[in-house]
Amino acid sequence: MLSVAEALDLIRQSVVGLEPETVSLAESLGLTLAADIVSGLDSPPFDKALMDGFAVRSSDINGEAILLDVVEEVMAGSVPSKSVETGQAIQIMTGAPMPVGADAVVPIEQTEPADGQVTIRASVTAGASVLGQGASIRSGECVLKAGRVIRPQEVGLMAELGCHSVVVRRRPRVAILATGDELVPVHEKPGPGQIRNSNESMLTAQIDQAGGEPVPLGIAKDNREHLALGISLGLQADMLLLSGGVSAGKLDLVPSELASAGVREIFHKVNVKPGKPIWFGVLEAEGRTVPVFGLPGNPVSSMACFELFARMGLECLVQSESKKRSRWLPLQADASPNRSRPTYHPAKLVVCDGETSVATVDWVGSADLRCTVEADGMALLPAGDTVMPTGTVVEFLPW
Ligand code: AMP
Ligand code: MG
Repeated sequence: MLSVAEALDLIRQSVVGLEPETVSLAESLGLTLAADIVSGLDSPPFDKALMDGFAVRSSDINGEAILLDVVEEVMAGSVPSKSVETGQAIQIMTGAPMPVGADAVVPIEQTEPADGQVTIRASVTAGASVLGQGASIRSGECVLKAGRVIRPQEVGLMAELGCHSVVVRRRPRVAILATGDELVPVHEKPGPGQIRNSNESMLTAQIDQAGGEPVPLGIAKDNREHLALGISLGLQADMLLLSGGVSAGKLDLVPSELASAGVREIFHKVNVKPGKPIWFGVLEAEGRTVPVFGLPGNPVSSMACFELFARMGLECLVQSESKKRSRWLPLQADASPNRSRPTYHPAKLVVCDGETSVATVDWVGSADLRCTVEADGMALLPAGDTVMPTGTVVEFLPW
């Protein structure tokens, strides 16, 4: 059986990025840059005063009381018309360009201005309270790489550089098709033998949080006609997630129906707990490649498989830079691993005396969604026969 790492490699190799699109800067938050951003200007564009005060020649100032002639006032947004000669100063506001000759600003609080002159007792070094042209960004410098997910600070930086439109990959539309004759919609009261379709709501939220655009398709019955209809609808999205119907039950029809719809199987089953029956394939048609994940129906398995595998599919669709999300932390208490399968065990973070450790939460198996609300993520317990003692360092994947 495939390992998680092998499965992730196969996903990376199979998923093709969406076509880049141009959107306005205002629409770009949360999308992924599809081209590098190269600065067309120096930042700041001129030597800039960082304080309200007096622009001076630092060589004029020695810590003794010095009297300088104030020859001009410069506000932010205007340009000095005079230079600062020995024995002179120019009153300057934060953000204004430095006058020729001056190399430092003495803050107003450290001066005694009077009648066109200013007395300065402070000492000052060259460059004090001045940000040199290009100190932050040089023209021609690449400031953001393709693959960056755009946050407010990226929006601000691109605004500074004048990028009013941006080349991005949009949020992938991710269809969700829950399967199972036992399922009823969330607003209905389950009858005998029935349960609510909780996976659709959960996966919708996970997709949303991971930067996708969820397209919930409701429930497909465990029969070929109904399933085929749902699958053909779902394949119109950029990615399709099915929940349930991928194990060994008599009505687990998802893999064969996906095959009938032309979806090529890449893998079925991964050596992991929860989520062993996971199925992955791609539809290649009409110049499109649609990744398809068949997630096991048990809610904790669905949730874990989304985090472990489907999220990677989403990242590949937008070609976002890979983020190492996991942390390595000591176990807060002994933990019992599974004999044969590595286990992603729901776990919570515990902070004690400034030290963070990870504690597995009690769960009664993959149907136990309640345990997940006690947890902050999953602790990876490698397969083994022996109890993992308190303090053992494990990988923790946050939700
Ligand atoms: P399956 O993978 O179809 O064999 O389903 C495994 C278990 O998960 C069964 O107990 C199902 O009732 C349950 N299950 C399947 N789909 C869902 C769903 N959408 N929401 C909640 N539970 C589900
Ligand atoms: Mg089922």
